[in-house]
Amino acid sequence: MCRTSEEEIKNYIKAGEISYRVKDYVEKLVKPGIKLVEVAEKVESYIRELNAQPAFPLNISVNEIAAHRTPLIDDGEVIPEDSIVKVDIGVHVNGYIADTAITLVFNDKLGKLAEAASDALEKAILAVSPGVRFSDVGAVIESTIRKYGFKVIKNLSGHSLDRYNIHAGDIIPNFKDPISHGKFRVGRAYAIEPFATDGKGAVTELRQVQIYALKKTKLGFGLTDDERKVLEVISERFKTLPFCERWLRDVIEDVASLRNVMRSLVRKGYLRQYPVLVEIRAGAVSQFEETIYISKEGVIVTSNPELSGGR
Ligand code: MN
Ligand code: MN
Repeated sequence: MCRTSEEEIKNYIKAGEISYRVKDYVEKLVKPGIKLVEVAEKVESYIRELNAQPAFPLNISVNEIAAHRTPLIDDGEVIPEDSIVKVDIGVHVNGYIADTAITLVFNDKLGKLAEAASDALEKAILAVSPGVRFSDVGAVIESTIRKYGFKVIKNLSGHSLDRYNIHAGDIIPNFKDPISHGKFRVGRAYAIEPFATDGKGAVTELRQVQIYALKKTKLGFGLTDDERKVLEVISERFKTLPFCERWLRDVIEDVASLRNVMRSLVRKGYLRQYPVLVEIRAGAVSQFEETIYISKEGVIVTSNPELSGGR
């Protein structure tokens, strides 16, 4: 049992170290004018070169888009001038995940907005110990972001992580949520992710869906050959982790046919969808995220050794 947990810590740390290198790569790569799809493909390839796998498609969310935006195969969008860009990176090693995000600012007026989320995350991490309530860390996040004159996005939150499972059940609110009673525990991994905005402080779903995950694994009747083939590949490659159409190009080359198959699998209940999330008043959004692991010896910030040292 002890061996298992050491193996677990080792994998979490390895995934975290790789994610830290990936963030550095992202900072150098992302500039106004570059295509989102080029960023995603390069970053995901870099993760694979470092002997890990993306734990979910790279999220590149511009301005008022908060999350769940990953480029389509034929995506034409480029990083705009004067923008604020969230890049959310998932790396896994043997199913052990580092979930981490940074905000890049190409507009001097939005620098403080990014700083608010980054400062909130650092202070939140310092507040974590075994037995501390999730909502107390949420309170630290909210009060820090408020001091900068911004709002937290209340309907986005951090979460516990488990092997091959990004959202493992616990929710870490970005405010002092009175209905949250959970506490940080030893032997668990968590992602903490404050979002700050100059808008209303909430997100809503757009109709666009670019990220999916497998919902049921048991294949029933009424599937076409293509649907069956796609489901088998998804379950083999991604298990229940999120994925996108770019990762299935080799299975069905024709983009329109691939999209038809995916739509049909959603309708038949095999796939869940993660719609693109936008700030409800179209406010600019910033986000920073780190993954932590609480060992018996203390809190390890797996995705950021610099912050680990600060504890
Ligand atoms: Mn994330
Ligand atoms: Mn997360």
